[in-house]
Amino acid sequence: MLKVNPDYLKLRGSYLFSTVARKVAASQAAHPDRQIIRLGIGDVTLPLTPTVVAAIHKAGDEMAHAETFRGYAPDLGYGFLREAAAAHDFKARGCDIAADEIFISDGAKSDSGNIQEIFSRDCRIAVCDPVYPVYLDSNVMGGRTGDFDEAKQQWSRVIYLPCTAANAFSPELPSEVPDLIYICSPNNPTGTAMKKERLQEWVDYANAHGSVIIFDAAYEAYISDPEVPHSIYECSGARTCAIEIRSFSKNAGFTGLRLGYTVVPKDLKDADGTALRDLWARRHGTKFNGAPYIQQRAGEAVYSEAGQTEIRGLVSYYMENARTIREGLAAAGYTAFGGIDSPYIWMQTPDGLSSWEFFDRLLEEASVVGTPGSGFGPSGEGYFRLTAFGTHENTKAAVERLQRL
Ligand SMILES: *Cc1c(COP(=O)(O)O)cnc(C)c1O
Repeated sequence: MLKVNPDYLKLRGSYLFSTVARKVAASQAAHPDRQIIRLGIGDVTLPLTPTVVAAIHKAGDEMAHAETFRGYAPDLGYGFLREAAAAHDFKARGCDIAADEIFISDGAKSDSGNIQEIFSRDCRIAVCDPVYPVYLDSNVMGGRTGDFDEAKQQWSRVIYLPCTAANAFSPELPSEVPDLIYICSPNNPTGTAMKKERLQEWVDYANAHGSVIIFDAAYEAYISDPEVPHSIYECSGARTCAIEIRSFSKNAGFTGLRLGYTVVPKDLKDADGTALRDLWARRHGTKFNGAPYIQQRAGEAVYSEAGQTEIRGLVSYYMENARTIREGLAAAGYTAFGGIDSPYIWMQTPDGLSSWEFFDRLLEEASVVGTPGSGFGPSGEGYFRLTAFGTHENTKAAVERLQRL
């Protein structure tokens, strides 16, 4: 008798963005004359930079000639990109990570969703609340759930780490010991980042308890505070407890191109001494046929001097928007967080409105779209996420509308 995987039936409605899209479409249909400004979904808007585009053309041309044609890429990634990432992202920051500990993929979403496959089904996981939904949903698919508590909106076998204004959005060490700990810094959705001292406490905790930290550094390029680490391997002891996930999406605009990587150090082992690196390489080699050559050459170009200058330009364009939003909200008396080391602003909803009530009010009265914080977890209730990925013009206009609300 055919049956689907029962763990997939446990997935809770993460219909956040489809509900947003439905409400926006209804509002536009009711008021066709209104210009709706979207500061909701976390996708970049600026085009790829010239150095990246030149690398794409060159790699495409190579494919047209027998001598330079490339078939299947090595499934763990081309040496030229693994070497460039090791040199630029780690050695240049004093982190001890080698090219053969770096596994190239089609992006951080796949890696952060797939990494749980190499761990035992009875592992306990800890996630921040609010959370990037992929960490939780991929573990639900993997069967690490227990019962769902409707009142708390939480799974019994998942440890939730509330991140609110009370703890400056930096999770406290848990009282029950998790096996896997997901940390995203700079954080989506709260826009805040962990300082090195705080991250070091998590690394020490993980080493003391035999836990593994899965560190998502997708927004590393947005860090401006010198006390915020760009990599978890800046913390001492991280080689024995941490996996790091990186993306070319938010720094270099590859959301549509697709490229990322995961670092699994050779020193990282389970309680029986099995090297996680070897399992991840095995998993990658079995289920993934390598990121495309053209994309990997585009990624290599990001690390060139010209590429680095260009992506700094992209990041500063978006961070100018972040400043516009932060300052505009503060001037209008709103309380808001983030936007210093990340392109997200996490504002408190005014007048005690729920996240969705504020969403509806903002859409109806100002035609501005954001994301309700409660969609990222119960501790997101009463918050609202705005992104800095719009144009300068739209961002200014949206902030003026918020101020008139
Ligand atoms: C956008 C985002 C990603 C996705 O990155 P891709 O490389 O485009 O798959 C991963 N993690 C977080 C927290 C993100 O916000």
